[in-house]
Amino acid sequence: MTQQPQAKYRHDYRAPDYTITDIDLTFDLDATKTLVTAISQITRQGAAGAPLRLDGEDLTLVSIDVNGAAWEDYRQEEGALIIESLPEAFTLTIVNEISPATNTALEGLYLSGDALCTQCEAEGFRHITWYLDRPDVLARFTTKIIADKSKYPFLLSNGNRIAEGELDNGRHWVQWQDPFPKPCYLFALVAGDFDVLRDTFKTRSGRDVALELFVDRGNLDRASWAMTSLKASMKWDETRFGLEYDLDIYMIVAVDFFNMGAMENKGLNVFNSKYVLARAETATDKDYLDIERVIGHEYFHNWTGNRVTCRDWFQLSLKEGLTVFRDQEFSSDLGSRAVNRIQNVRTMRAAQFAEDASPMAHPIRPDKVIEMNNFYTLTVYEKGSEVIRMLHTLLGEENFQKGMQLYFERHDGSAATCDDFVQAMEDASNVDLSHFRRWYSQAGTPVVTVRDDYDPETELYTLTISQHTPPTAEQQEKHPLHIPFDIELYDNEGKVIPLQKNGHPIHHVLNVTQAEQTFVFDNVYFQPVPSLLREFSAPVKLEYKWSDQQLTFLMRHARNDFSRWDAAQSLLATYIKLNVNRSQQGQPLSLPLHVADAFRAILLDEKIDPALAAEILTLPSQNEIAELFQKIDPQAIAAVHEALTRTLANELADEFLAVYNANKLDAYRVEHADIGKRALRNTCLRYLAFGEKKLAEQLVRNQFESADNMTDSIAALASSVAAQLPCRAELLAEFDEKWHQDGLVMDKWFVLQATSPAADTLSKVRELLNHRSFSMGNPNRVRSLIGAFAAGNPAAFHALDGSGYQFMVEMLSELNHRNPQVASRLIEPLIRLKRYDAKRQEMMRAALEQLKGLENLSGDLFEKISKALA
Ligand code: ZN
Repeated sequence: MTQQPQAKYRHDYRAPDYTITDIDLTFDLDATKTLVTAISQITRQGAAGAPLRLDGEDLTLVSIDVNGAAWEDYRQEEGALIIESLPEAFTLTIVNEISPATNTALEGLYLSGDALCTQCEAEGFRHITWYLDRPDVLARFTTKIIADKSKYPFLLSNGNRIAEGELDNGRHWVQWQDPFPKPCYLFALVAGDFDVLRDTFKTRSGRDVALELFVDRGNLDRASWAMTSLKASMKWDETRFGLEYDLDIYMIVAVDFFNMGAMENKGLNVFNSKYVLARAETATDKDYLDIERVIGHEYFHNWTGNRVTCRDWFQLSLKEGLTVFRDQEFSSDLGSRAVNRIQNVRTMRAAQFAEDASPMAHPIRPDKVIEMNNFYTLTVYEKGSEVIRMLHTLLGEENFQKGMQLYFERHDGSAATCDDFVQAMEDASNVDLSHFRRWYSQAGTPVVTVRDDYDPETELYTLTISQHTPPTAEQQEKHPLHIPFDIELYDNEGKVIPLQKNGHPIHHVLNVTQAEQTFVFDNVYFQPVPSLLREFSAPVKLEYKWSDQQLTFLMRHARNDFSRWDAAQSLLATYIKLNVNRSQQGQPLSLPLHVADAFRAILLDEKIDPALAAEILTLPSQNEIAELFQKIDPQAIAAVHEALTRTLANELADEFLAVYNANKLDAYRVEHADIGKRALRNTCLRYLAFGEKKLAEQLVRNQFESADNMTDSIAALASSVAAQLPCRAELLAEFDEKWHQDGLVMDKWFVLQATSPAADTLSKVRELLNHRSFSMGNPNRVRSLIGAFAAGNPAAFHALDGSGYQFMVEMLSELNHRNPQVASRLIEPLIRLKRYDAKRQEMMRAALEQLKGLENLSGDLFEKISKALA
């Protein structure tokens, strides 16, 4: 490293000295050498004499002109071009060269297969040309693209196509203009040959919008679901938020090489093909729902992100937390609200809580950043969404929507802060949010402890609620937060006991604001069973001394589905903790009959939504279980997870088989009722695979061979791998033979093998690095094989001989220079050393030290490694 990467601080924000109102770009495209001409209209806003400092990385300068004449007063520094002696307003013309073909970091302009495309968020535009690469500089973009017509018949950029033409030697050009001023992170360019799916959408004010979906040639048969999802998103945003699309064209391009999920570039979204392509034979139900969600997410950004953008990157959650909240509501309105809530809460508990307990812990609005790409996190996105959800809970839908309207009235067309958003919510609702704001600045997961007391004489029921947030990596001192705490009380028949005090009804969402608080309810005519933190009304850990009886009661009687699932989770947690201790002492699993019976009752419940039953019967993952402990014992957790699966498989064998047989469907349709049935049936199959050997083989093989859709076929294959059935090798080989040319399908196959409980998994993973379908250059493949091993197979990754850590050192050493963003995602499990015993910590530390010594260590890895070693 030439010099140590420097941190930036939120408190150091300053408005820029110059702003750019218009930029006219010309790309003379070629994969190996692209010539970029940028003509910018610039005005000074700061003090006279201030130098203009433009960001730029990996660029070759050709020329600089000011007002049409060559300009000499400039110098280049690492990452910057500094121009001096400038007038107050001027036209700046910069010509530079870039090399897309050697851009393996996939940031800026790069090659995806044969197509050229861009990714500019967060700071990728500086890899295209020198610019004020910050989100508070909003300019009108015009973009002319010149390229070979046979190689690149489609030339796309933001906004409307305003001109096109033919040139000599087989070249052509297209010019685009985006009428909406935008920061450069929303710029996009795509050039290539595609199949196009076209459609139209009529907005509620009657405008026709052209919809165009670009996929690799031959993939049209996998494009229609994404188009359906786009139209559903446009409709939903009009109905629920009153927001209409604003350009005459909306384009989505699917590319195979992409660092994350998708990108909301104005009028021209670029997507990881994983979130576009689907047909029944290749995509699972989950893939279909993920596509719907991500298409929605990027579409919703058009208002929350593009029309109102972020002042600086510390405010990222302004657009991401809000847009995740919006996509979660979209999925919930279209499908099952309870199942969506359950899955989002699983993510919070397993992954976001783990991030809070890691060296990377940060508030949803971070204070200090070295590499911005490291802050596209579960905390900013998922916890950010939980914070918006709490606002929604506190204000109610009507006031929340008023707040949204006020937010757009105030900030449309500009760059805003998280504070601006909360202010709009506060002003529109008259709800005091001064204390609530602390959620934006305080990191970590609060622990909420509840004690209760019932006096049958006075019929008084008392809840004592206390909160405490443990210190996080860079924030020792914590304060009480404003926690909306949703509760309900049940009598012995499962009827709701009204919440009241002195004859006045009390709202079911309690405002917990102090370190300790007491709530007393009167006229409680029966010793109640409390339902606490309903709907996960705040992103906290709940502690309450549940009895098994209370939990099995709630599994049966709670009025809302989420609470039934959550009670099952708490019941399982009790016995998982107990058995992890037993396992560490070499004792076998013990599970009382009434626990198995509570799950039997779910299987026998004829009225339950099958999708909910599937969620209740799906054991918490090993990563979810890990968060029940301060110190994690991956081997004990894996052992208990498996033993618990086997125990339930044996206890409930007949019921699993009966439900499996009862939920067979004739044809594959992507409909929520059917998705629920398949989920339940495949959950049963998973248990059956751990049951009687002959039956297990027969059922799994039979489903694998007869399935006409990927959901059922991969579920069978996954069951064979998880239960280590003898047939698994044969089925895996068959799958490979059938699908090896399809990367997205093979990703599922890589994941299964990387997360296999088999003893030889690491050597298998090493072998698969040379598989014909694997490529170190494709982020999806890397995440499916290497990422799944490190993050999804904790027992193997944390093997006591250190082999998992050493493997990651090798992989990260290569990925560090090839693709720092991908490397930085993959290193996460390795930096969380404090959660493990001394021996593992020592080995993890040694691995990190080794990586720290890499030549040209990226800022991305540097930031995480130095936090971990601090
Ligand atoms: Zn987003």
